[in-house]
Amino acid sequence: MTMPLMKPRRKNPVLRTRQMNLPPWARGRTALGMTAAAAEGRFELQVCKRCQAVQYPPRDACHRCLSPELKWTPQSGAGELLSETVLHHSNDPFYRERLPWRLGLVRLDAGPTVIVHLHGDVASPPPFGAGEPPQSRQEVRVHVGARLDRAGAAVLIGFPAEESEHMSDDRMLREMASDPRFRKILVTDGKTEVGQALVKALVKAGAEIVWVGHAEPWKKLPGLDDITALAQVTLVPLDLTNGRSVTELAGEIGGKVDIVVNNAEVHRAFGIAARRGTDVAKAEMDINYFGLLRLAQEFGPALKGRSADGETHAAAWVNLLSVYALSNFPPHGTFSASKAAAYSLAQCLRAEMRPSGIRVINVFPGPIDDEWNQNLPPPKVAPAALASAIVKALREGIEDVYPGDVAQEWVERWRENPKVLERELAAGS
Ligand SMILES: [Zn+2]
Repeated sequence: MTMPLMKPRRKNPVLRTRQMNLPPWARGRTALGMTAAAAEGRFELQVCKRCQAVQYPPRDACHRCLSPELKWTPQSGAGELLSETVLHHSNDPFYRERLPWRLGLVRLDAGPTVIVHLHGDVASPPPFGAGEPPQSRQEVRVHVGARLDRAGAAVLIGFPAEESEHMSDDRMLREMASDPRFRKILVTDGKTEVGQALVKALVKAGAEIVWVGHAEPWKKLPGLDDITALAQVTLVPLDLTNGRSVTELAGEIGGKVDIVVNNAEVHRAFGIAARRGTDVAKAEMDINYFGLLRLAQEFGPALKGRSADGETHAAAWVNLLSVYALSNFPPHGTFSASKAAAYSLAQCLRAEMRPSGIRVINVFPGPIDDEWNQNLPPPKVAPAALASAIVKALREGIEDVYPGDVAQEWVERWRENPKVLERELAAGS
């Protein structure tokens, strides 16, 4: 049973800060299919369209019938642990610094046998006795999942078949994911319903400190008292449209933040013709795009520098984008454009953060149940549901999050045919 993680001691500031060594991350184009699924929290393997064989490792042709028609298909991950081994030596710098490390060999019910990182709660398989018939062995059932490691590449993890209370405190999982527990987190905007739901969810998930940005600290706003009453929460002045405000806050807390959640946004419901001038569009761009840029320039370097810093190393960067970033939604046209720009910048941020092992999580909600979407009919995603999707992504190492039914449906339609979706949106559906 995993022991609950105790609050880690403060790091001695005189000690050297370890530099990040990434686990091996080179993958071929075919193998990246598994990473693409894991980035959204799914475990997929190639299945042959002709003979239905499930295969691992990924290849360009079916191992049984040589057909090139393979389809990435979600897997249940159920299987039996055949054997385990504990590494006490590794030539790889990432694992060498984290030994001992437990690995297992699992035969999936779907067919293939895979090597997995083994969760501490999985029991050891019984040894093969001499002369004992293999049928009399007690099976150790496991659940295999695909997760992104610190290099952002998919790896397989063997979880216990039944969940246990402190499972996410497992040392190996902690090295893979960015669990909020005992971490210090900056949420850039506390005045919105989404911001407040996020703060509550992060505190509930065990965050040690949550700094909450507030652009106009002299204003009393609804809901703000509820979150400032929480012992973990500190309100900080932060205005993303003002470079100096961002620099000042980074100077104060930048060296302590483990997770940045950038939820600050301006959202107006207009297209092009419904409004004269560019002031509103500029205001959207100034927060949604330039705000992210300012924040990344000021908070990025310190975050990267602390990514291997013990149990509560700096871990993640979360961007609240919008599913409208994928394809413009004309009634919210300028907002969509600003989110598309932010999405592109977030991809750049992800590429720059990857060498230090900081995960960039992009969140693409559909319409949120807030004041700017009042005129849209349901379904809309509730702020609390959005917040728990973000906590889940941090815990499970998910990189792209499409919370709620609308976002899920949009992304499916977009993947199927972006042009068809563009036409449908233009027609107002
Ligand atoms: Zn086949």
